Amino acid sequence: MIDFHSLGLSAALVGATTALSYPAPTDIQARTIPLILAGGDVAGESQTGTGKTAAFALPVLQLLAASTEPGDRRIRVLTIVPTRELAIQVAASFKKIATLAKLPFKTVAIIGGEPIEDQFVALAAGVDVVVATPGRLADLLARQAIRLHVVKTLVLDEADKLLDLGFQDALGSIVATLPMQRQTLLFSATLPDKVVEFAAAVMTNAQTVRIDAVPTPVAAIDQRVIEVDASNRRLLLQHLIREESWGQTVVFTATQRATENIAAKMRISGFVAAALNGGQEQTVRSNTLKRFKRGSIDVLIATDLAGRGIDFPAVDTVVNFDLPRSPLDYVHRVGRTGRAQASGRAVSFIDQDSAHHFRIIEKQAGIRLTRQSVPGFEMTGEARQKAKGPQPVKGKRKSKKDKLREAKARLQAPVESVVETVVETAVEPRVDAPVATPDDTAVETRVDAPVATPNDTAVEAPVDAPVESPEASGWVFSSRSSEE
Ligand code: AMP
Repeated sequence: MIDFHSLGLSAALVGATTALSYPAPTDIQARTIPLILAGGDVAGESQTGTGKTAAFALPVLQLLAASTEPGDRRIRVLTIVPTRELAIQVAASFKKIATLAKLPFKTVAIIGGEPIEDQFVALAAGVDVVVATPGRLADLLARQAIRLHVVKTLVLDEADKLLDLGFQDALGSIVATLPMQRQTLLFSATLPDKVVEFAAAVMTNAQTVRIDAVPTPVAAIDQRVIEVDASNRRLLLQHLIREESWGQTVVFTATQRATENIAAKMRISGFVAAALNGGQEQTVRSNTLKRFKRGSIDVLIATDLAGRGIDFPAVDTVVNFDLPRSPLDYVHRVGRTGRAQASGRAVSFIDQDSAHHFRIIEKQAGIRLTRQSVPGFEMTGEARQKAKGPQPVKGKRKSKKDKLREAKARLQAPVESVVETVVETAVEPRVDAPVATPDDTAVETRVDAPVATPNDTAVEAPVDAPVESPEASGWVFSSRSSEE
């Protein structure tokens, strides 16, 4: 069996893997660590959850240790990642491995969300490894507040996501400030043409390592698809969590607003639930993540912001409350469970309107799942048909006037529609939500479209978008050390 030592890692770094309880290298580690230690550029195709952070952090720290002059405290390793959470997580990995291997390196995460002064102080004190999101880094460069002229290693993590989020120009300007003589490592869940082209522009004679398109952990995951009316999904979710004694659960929705709504309603129903989305203040997001990792939150309702990169070691179940946009997003979401060989459960809710979309996901992900239904929650098709009627503008709450107008219209409507309305609202309290109101149902139907529209993406994107003004994106400039 291949072990970490045979990959060329020093005793100190092998010791770190033992302390981290890594039994053996994962595929991506076994194949990339020797190439990285040899000093060449490497492009690795590997999914979230396959151990790629350690695949670059271990050899990069070893090379840094071998090339460091005593007392040199300039930035020699720069890692760029697409989201703040991932930056914090990757910085924490660098720090942990360095500490375990007794390497005296300082790592700082450079992300949006806090006053820029803190960031100046952290950088001025001397830093060896920076893990940054592109928007913040480009801004610091423009202010000449960071010097990258001695960077020896550039790591681009989740390169496909970096490009998807529109960071290409920011990356170009950052890379232009780096020395030509450097090692560049690029990791990406997929290597589509645009990533390959980008890699070609920033790398030299790169060796490409491809690991199976679908991550190995997925095989160990019990994937289920359940047919249910859209208006009944939350109650079904609550029912399943209780009936099947699910452990920690991540529930994915299409919009930020749905995360807040569902979390609030689940809390009312007695669950320890919290929302996580890109519209929240950074401190709220960090706290929620910390509490979830500690186990003090049972159910996390999240947008796709949490679908990639962020490590939730204890997740028992992933729920696609709304289906993801693409098969790849499905794989990413499902990859939140069943990590590092542990088994997990992934449950997708579908109805008549989203059935076709799920079929496409299945085809491209190479799976075919039997449609299930849960007694008491069988799909009738009612709710989504109703949602097709006149709807409020997405993202806008109904005004009192709107509600009054609708109520009047209902009263004037033929008898069947009045009956239908009564049936719909009666569905709510049936199972286990004594406090659910007709309004609760109405909000539920309105906020969570099954497949996100480009508009939803726009809401999610300002995680760290460089093109936006601070006011538009809600940025406040920040520095956060990995010790936080
Ligand atoms: P990543 O893909 O870097 O997000 O890592 C996913 C999870 O796998 C993290 O919890 C890592 O700590 C864990 N991990 C990384 N390498 C190994 C390994 N060789 N054996 C077991 N777990 C690992």
